[in-house]
Amino acid sequence: MPVCDTCGNDYEKTFTVTRNGSSATFDSFECAVTALAPICEHCSCRILGHGVQAGERIFCCAHCAHMAGFRELVDHI
Ligand SMILES: [Zn+2]
Ligand SMILES: [Zn+2]
Repeated sequence: MPVCDTCGNDYEKTFTVTRNGSSATFDSFECAVTALAPICEHCSCRILGHGVQAGERIFCCAHCAHMAGFRELVDHI
């Protein structure tokens, strides 16, 4: 049976996520989020929405981007 890439759980209803050509297997969305969601550079929370990006740097919201010095960024509304 497939095994979750994050927690190693052996589970028959796993699903795979493909990103940038490589795929990973998970048993739950929580495990997929743990493995794939980017982390805000300012507050360290996991980014589950769009987030805001400044070049290679990513933040959960415009507020965090502002606190890190990227004043031109705004939230996607
Ligand atoms: Zn898992
Ligand atoms: Zn943040």
